[in-house]
This record gives sequence, C-alpha cells and structure tokens, in this order.
Amino acid sequence: KAFADSGLPENVLECCKGFEKPSPIQSRAWPFLLDGRDLIGIAATGSGKTLAFGIPAVMHVLKKRKSKASKGRNPLCLMLSPTRELAQQISDVMCEAGGSCGVESVCLYGGTSKGPQISSLKSGIDIVIGTPGRIQDLIEMGVCCLKEVSFVVLDEADRMLDMGFEQVVRSILGQTCSARQMVMFSATWPLPVHHLAQEFMDPNPVKV
Ligand code: AMP
Repeated sequence: KAFADSGLPENVLECCKGFEKPSPIQSRAWPFLLDGRDLIGIAATGSGKTLAFGIPAVMHVLKKRKSKASKGRNPLCLMLSPTRELAQQISDVMCEAGGSCGVESVCLYGGTSKGPQISSLKSGIDIVIGTPGRIQDLIEMGVCCLKEVSFVVLDEADRMLDMGFEQVVRSILGQTCSARQMVMFSATWPLPVHHLAQEFMDPNPVKV
C-alpha cells in the first residue's frame, strides 16, 4: 500500500517523504485510529510504531482545533512513555510530524529544570509527551491541564508498569477527558497491562 492510498493530507505526510511506503503497522493502524477506534499494538521499536500513532494524533489535533490555535490553549493529546530517552525519541518524531501543519508538542521529563517545560505549556501546546512522574508533578503544580486531552497513547505499557508507574499512570489517565480515544503499545501483555486496558479502553479495542 502506498502513502497516497492512506487518505492522509499531503502536509501531514510531509514527515514520511523519505520513506517508500507505510510500514505494516502504519497501514494497519491508520484506518482504525483515523476512525476513532481504541487500539492495542504489540510491536517492537523499529516497526515504525511512533508514526503509527503519531500521524493519527496530528490528525486528531487538526480535526479538534478548527479555529486558529491560541496562546494558552490546553493540550489535546497525551503520550506517556516509561523513560526520558523514549519520550525524547517520540518528541523528535512528533516535532517533525507536527511541524508541517502547525501542531506543537512539548516533552516533559524529570531530571531537568521545570522552567522551560512550564513556559512551553503556557505558550500553548497541542501534544504533551513525557514520563509519568514529571507530568504528575506539573499537574499538581497546576501548570499542566489534561482535561481536554481526548487522544492518549501509552507506549511500552509493560515497561511503564514494571517500573512502578501504575498508580501514577492511573491518576494521570483519570485527569483526561472521559470520551477519549486510547492507544496502547506493549511488547508483552501481562495481567497488569491487561487490567489497565480493561479499565481505561473500549471493551473491544482493535488489535494489531
Ligand atoms: P519506531 O518503531 O517508531 O521507533 O521507528 C523506527 C524507525 O523506522 C525510525 O527510524 C523511523 O524513521 C523509521 N520509519 C518509520 N516509518 C517508516 C516507513 N514507513 N518506512 C521506513 N522507515 C520508517
């Protein structure tokens, strides 16, 4: 399948112009995610999974934000990752994917000063990417508002729970819009991940 068959606008596909065709996970996930379905993906790094959820996230923002985006707007998408390295990788991809269509993201993780992260949030952001601890911190400080978040990605969900983030992840998810679309990627599917999916996702998510 070619990019042209995906039905995605050209400016959104700008970030894919170096690639020959969508990766298998992309061509399978895109139609469901663009249709608003919840999705569970069992995929490893290197499969192109970041753009599999990243491009639908950009489309979600473009659809929701009909009027010109303003300063101080609340984020519409959230992407949680277990480590700052992975968060940074996702963020790099999202900066490129959002860049050509004016969709802005910020990467929030610990071990670094909060000042610049807070400034970015205040300037108005569409997509928040980050690790659970720092995001929870910024929520508690009242500078990160997730009440308009209606597209959520949990990347490497199994690792996130292994690292002890379960309660924080639950608390963060509880701050998002109840009518949200959710995507979960995990390399394995142990019981705690299954329970999290049961609690926060549609009863019948698509599996790819
Ligand atoms: P990811 O699985 O998201 O970490 O992506 C792994 C690598 O695949 C990254 O270097 C991407 O730039 C690359 N990639 C993403 N989509 C495609 C595609 N459709 N064709 C070829 N490479 C891709």
